[in-house]
Amino acid sequence: MRVRAHRSSGDVVARKVTRERFDAVLFDLDGVVTSTAAVHMAAWKRVFDAFLDGAAPGQGIDRRAFGERDYRVYVDGKPRYDGVRGFLASRGVTLPEGGPGDPPGGETVCGLGNRKNELFRAELDTRGARAFPSTVRWIRELRRQGFKTAVVTASRNGTAVLAATGLADQFDVVLDGNEAARLRLAGKPAPDTYVAAARTLGAEKRRAVVVEDAIAGVRAGRDGGFGLVIGVAGPDDTDEMVDNGADVVVADLSEMAG
Ligand SMILES: [Mg+2]
Repeated sequence: MRVRAHRSSGDVVARKVTRERFDAVLFDLDGVVTSTAAVHMAAWKRVFDAFLDGAAPGQGIDRRAFGERDYRVYVDGKPRYDGVRGFLASRGVTLPEGGPGDPPGGETVCGLGNRKNELFRAELDTRGARAFPSTVRWIRELRRQGFKTAVVTASRNGTAVLAATGLADQFDVVLDGNEAARLRLAGKPAPDTYVAAARTLGAEKRRAVVVEDAIAGVRAGRDGGFGLVIGVAGPDDTDEMVDNGADVVVADLSEMAG
């Protein structure tokens, strides 16, 4: 296992996911199991750039185009409307909240979120969802070793995305955005969804691993008191993942296998 960064200077062997130390591995979905993070980013960009272009002049609004940095800090891993609210606040914009039934594209928090969902769903229907082969290999290996596995995603499309990959049978628990809302659980960066999934699996938190590609997600893993938090990120984002709670940062989960 090659480890690019970790929070403490403990030896590399102590970072391995073994049955001696752990019973369960909880995976984020988009960007960890499936390559759909890029599809989400592209849909958000279309929505926010169109909104900022069309916003009334003046009023101290920062109109720079929505970028990767905005996605990572304000949107990635969070419930949909939290993402809209957070990003707009960063640009000096406050919109009325509206409601989940708002027409897509309407100038409310929910309207913009609904437009993003419309674009994401259209893209999902056209292109489908692809799972990362290295992640799939590791999940199968973990299950052969007797680990329990879960998907914990803020996405209300989580179950549909997972179904499109044919991987639903690889997880004992799937907790997506719809289930989180039904259970009234706070979304990431709050740890509540991970904590609930671990409880459903019957796993102690210190014997459970969280695997995340979002800043909000590694923070949830850290604040939930999980035994190990693995960040999946490129080299430029390693420090930020560690600062927010990742114990280990890898570019690809093949680095955790074997
Ligand atoms: Mg993610």
